[in-house]
Amino acid sequence: MKYIFVTGGVVSSLGKGLAAAALGTLLEHRGLKVLIQKFDPYLNVDPGTMSPLQHGEVYVLDDGAETDLDLGHYERFTNGKLSQLNNLTSGQVYENVIRNERKGKYLGATVQVIPHVTDEIKNRIHEVAEKMDAEVIITEIGGTTGDIEGLPFLEALRQFQLDEGRQNVIFIHATLVPFIKAAQELKTKPTQQSVAKLREIGIAPDVILCRSEHEVEEDHRRKLSMFCNLPQESVIQFLDLENTIYEAPLKLHEEGLDRIVCQLLGLDTKEPDLTNWRNMVDRMVNPTHKVKIAVVGKYIELQDAYKSIYEALTHAGAANDCRVKIIRIDSEKLEEKDVPTLLAKADAILIPGGFGERGIEGKVAAAKFARENSIPYFGLCLGMQIATIEFARNVCGLEGANSVEFDENGPHPVICLLEEQKEVEDKGASMRLGTWEAKLKKGSLANRLYGTLEVSERHRHRYEFNQDYREQMEGAGFSISGSSPDGTLCEIVEIPHHPFYLAVQFHPEFQSKPTAPHPLFSGFVKAAMDAKG
Ligand code: GLN
Repeated sequence: MKYIFVTGGVVSSLGKGLAAAALGTLLEHRGLKVLIQKFDPYLNVDPGTMSPLQHGEVYVLDDGAETDLDLGHYERFTNGKLSQLNNLTSGQVYENVIRNERKGKYLGATVQVIPHVTDEIKNRIHEVAEKMDAEVIITEIGGTTGDIEGLPFLEALRQFQLDEGRQNVIFIHATLVPFIKAAQELKTKPTQQSVAKLREIGIAPDVILCRSEHEVEEDHRRKLSMFCNLPQESVIQFLDLENTIYEAPLKLHEEGLDRIVCQLLGLDTKEPDLTNWRNMVDRMVNPTHKVKIAVVGKYIELQDAYKSIYEALTHAGAANDCRVKIIRIDSEKLEEKDVPTLLAKADAILIPGGFGERGIEGKVAAAKFARENSIPYFGLCLGMQIATIEFARNVCGLEGANSVEFDENGPHPVICLLEEQKEVEDKGASMRLGTWEAKLKKGSLANRLYGTLEVSERHRHRYEFNQDYREQMEGAGFSISGSSPDGTLCEIVEIPHHPFYLAVQFHPEFQSKPTAPHPLFSGFVKAAMDAKG
């Protein structure tokens, strides 16, 4: 097994996760079996309890693990299916160590960061290597070198390299090489200092990945090579991408990243054939058509909160030879009277997932507008619950219809809690999570788009469609076109006589890839194109 650890220096938000993902793409194209994972030094056991404003989207895996959004990049850029083993946090590490201590596993010993915490981290790496099918494991370390929280991880990795040998374990350090306007110059000092910090811990990077807005010239590379003690060809620039993140593998390949990594790890592989990937990027960058899709959500100002949705729309756009321009609409500011003007420019409307009451009425108004004006509507998770509330209120005449999440004692709880959820006390990892099967209604829009009658999709929600209202709502034209195999849970709803009105209780966005766009997203973008005419 070969191991690549990706650390970050100078600042956060360097695109480390993207770089790790892109390297994964390149190694896969060289014929290697790759797995990418993340270590997050924060103390939460998982990001499931964090606000999107803190942490961006929570990405959900097949097995129900709630993980960092970088795992979304990893799954989109490579073929590896990830599991809960692939996002290790300090919270999990300490939870295990303390549990072991209580069990008496370290009987007699003083339990310490070294060796107990560091061993726990190393054990996890070995567990992943044993259980998962891969030849190369790329691990991104969250945070920035020098963070107090990150130290046990880096110490564990230093030991790990010693145990496994430098020919099997390498470090890639991603840093910022800033451009100082006044001096009209790139500056390498922050990188030098961040590498010095890493070396203080005992880790010498094998590759430095320089994130920069401007070309990192020969003399910068020479300087970095000398001060950071590595060959000049291992100083690699990673410039801002012009068009799409999917260019990253192509750019990093031009810079020789995959060749150098394989050399360092003694991996004898073929040159990667990136033709298909390049064609896919071309389709994304130069499409013939264009549509505008309004995303009505409450975390709209945040680039990362709906990451997988934006990516899935991009994939679906490329599949339809179409550029999807996203109009971001803040549901909290959306009042019913402004809906026609604000949504007039949109060819289609998407309502993403969400929690809590804030911004709900704006979303209901947007759903109503889409239904009444035959505008394509796609609801995801909360977006399905909103569609249900809107239809119940305005078509079935169920005044005050709502979800019990927003109105505990309302007259018509059309979205409710299942009995088993009522007993849940802990907030962490207690929702309906991960992959669940659904059976589709023959001839429905969902069936036509998927081309099959059985699907499995990823979930992350607590509330469900209330089956007590099923008959009344179906009688009024609200079609339940997807249900759990036992028929008790509603998974997909549609309005048949509408050009495209589809809402799902799950998150199809987590299974869309640039190389395999999700059929519901593709159908939605196609409907937006048709609506535009
Ligand atoms: N808040 C809703 C629920 O818990 C929807 C969740 C979501 O959109 N992910 O059921």
